[in-house]
Amino acid sequence: MRLITSIAEMREYQHEADSRGKAIGFVPTMGALHEGHISLIHQAKRQCDTVVVSIFVNPTQFDSQEDLARYPRNLDQDLEVLRPLKVDVTFAPEASELYPEGFSTSVDAGMVAAPLEGTSRPGHFRGVATVVTKLFNIVKPNVAYFGQKDFQQVQVIRRLVEDLNMDVRLSVCPTARESDGVAVSSRNAYLNEEERQAARVINHGLRLAEKIAQAGESSVEKVLDEMYKLYASEPRVHLEYAAIVEPARLTPVQHLSPGCVALVAARVGPARLIDNLIFGPPGASPEMLLQLALTAQPIVDNRALIPGFETEAVKLRIASCRNCAAISTIRLPPREFLTSYVAAHYPDRGAPHGAIIGRDSPINPDMYLYRKPKSPNRFSVGLYELLGVKGFEEFKARYILTDAVRCHATGSHISQNALAYCANHLREELKLFPNIEVLVVLGEDTYSQFQQFLLERRAAEIKPFEEIMKPDGWAREEARVPIFGERSMRIFYCYHPTRGYSRSPSIAKWLG
Ligand code: AMP
Repeated sequence: MRLITSIAEMREYQHEADSRGKAIGFVPTMGALHEGHISLIHQAKRQCDTVVVSIFVNPTQFDSQEDLARYPRNLDQDLEVLRPLKVDVTFAPEASELYPEGFSTSVDAGMVAAPLEGTSRPGHFRGVATVVTKLFNIVKPNVAYFGQKDFQQVQVIRRLVEDLNMDVRLSVCPTARESDGVAVSSRNAYLNEEERQAARVINHGLRLAEKIAQAGESSVEKVLDEMYKLYASEPRVHLEYAAIVEPARLTPVQHLSPGCVALVAARVGPARLIDNLIFGPPGASPEMLLQLALTAQPIVDNRALIPGFETEAVKLRIASCRNCAAISTIRLPPREFLTSYVAAHYPDRGAPHGAIIGRDSPINPDMYLYRKPKSPNRFSVGLYELLGVKGFEEFKARYILTDAVRCHATGSHISQNALAYCANHLREELKLFPNIEVLVVLGEDTYSQFQQFLLERRAAEIKPFEEIMKPDGWAREEARVPIFGERSMRIFYCYHPTRGYSRSPSIAKWLG
C-alpha cells in the first residue's frame, strides 16, 4: 500500500493506472476508520482494479456545530486498518496542500443541500461539494463510493456529478450498524457509556416508523407523531429533526410510498448523530431499498404501491448500468426476463425451487424460451431433457432460467469489472425468488463467472471446467452461496445443452 500526501504524486499514480486500463475505485473519508468505511472499501475492491482511499479531515465542511480540532485523527491507526484490506493507495494530504494560500473558489451545492442538514449546518454541504470536486479532479476515479448513512450527502454528490458533468460513477453502500442497530460513526467515540445506550433510540425510532408503515399506515403525519413520542421518552437524546421526504429533492411528503426516506438528526451528549431509513416492501434487501430511493424514478406523492415494483427497480438499475450498456452493444441480452417475464410467468415468486443459470442460446432473440415457449428449439429440447421436464409449463412451475453473463459477452476483452456488474444483476434476479435451493449452471463461461462472483472464489481455487466435467459429464457440489445466506445450496454444473458434441446426461433423478 502506498501512502501519498502530495497532489502531484497522486496525479502521477492516476495517470499510470489509467494508461494501464485499470479502473480506479475511490473511497473518500475523514479517517477514524470503522466498519462503515470498510464496507465501502470492500465494495470498491470487488468492483475495481485499484482502490484509493483518501483520509482528509476537511476544514471547510465543519461549522459552528462541530469542533474541527476535536475531530478524531490518527493516521497511523488508520493505515493499520487499511493495510490488511489491500488498499492500493492512501491519499492523505495536509490541509495546506488542498487549500493553499489564496484559495477562494467553492462549489454551491444547490437545492438538495438546503433542507435538513443544510438548515442545521449552514455551509456544510458547500464544503463537502468543494472538497469532493477537488478530490475527483485529483484522483479521477472511475467509481466513487459513498455510504447511505449520509443520505443527503449522497444526493448532493449525485446532483453535483450530474449537473457539472463529472465523469465518475457513484456507488452507494448500505449503512453499517453496530450489533444493537446504532449506525457506526466516528462520532460515536464522543459518547460515554450511558449516552451510547441512549443513542439506540435513534434507530429504534426509524424501525418503529418502518413497522408502522409495513402494517399499512401511509400517513406521514401519524408515523412522525409516533417517532416524536418515542424520541421524547429518551431525555438524553435531543432531537434536531425527524423528517420523511421523497428521495430525490428531499422535500416532505404526506403519504408514504416505496423509496421515501426517513431522516433523523439528534444530539446525544457532545455528539451530533444522524441516521436514516428507506421505506420499501417487507423483506427487501438494503441494496434493493437503496435502489428504490436512488433510481431517479419520480416517486409520486400518493399511495403508489405498484405490485411487482421491485422488478421495475431492478430494470431501472440495469438500464442505468454504464458498464453493461457499454458491452451490451456486442449482443443484446435477454434482459426482458426481469421486466415482463417475471411478472407474467411468476405471479408467485415463492414457487420456483431451482434456477438455471446460462444462456438462452438461439441467435435470434425472438426464439428465446420465454418469448416462444411453444416453439421447441435446440436449446429448450436439450434443457428439458437435462432437467427431465416435459415442456415449458412444467419447467416454469419448478425453475427459472436466467443468464449469468448477462451481456452475452465473453473473452478476455471483457473487463473483470463489467463481468462483476453482470454478476450483480444475476444476484438481484436470484434474490427475487426466495425459495431457490437448486442451481444448475450451464456451460464453461457461466461456470467460471458463477465460481468467481457468486461463490466468491479466487481464480486459484477454481478448477478448470473440463477437469470437473471429466468423469461423468456433469458435476455437483453443496455450497453456501453468499446471497442466499447460511443455507447450503445444491449446485449442478453441466455442459450447455446446445453444445451437442459433449452433452451432459440427464440430471433429472438428482434434482428431486
Ligand atoms: P466520513 O469519514 O464520516 O466522512 O465518511 C466517509 C464515507 O463513509 C462517507 O461516504 C460516509 O457516508 C461513509 N460512512 C460513514 N459511516 C458509515 C456507515 N455506518 N455505513 C456506511 N457508510 C458509512
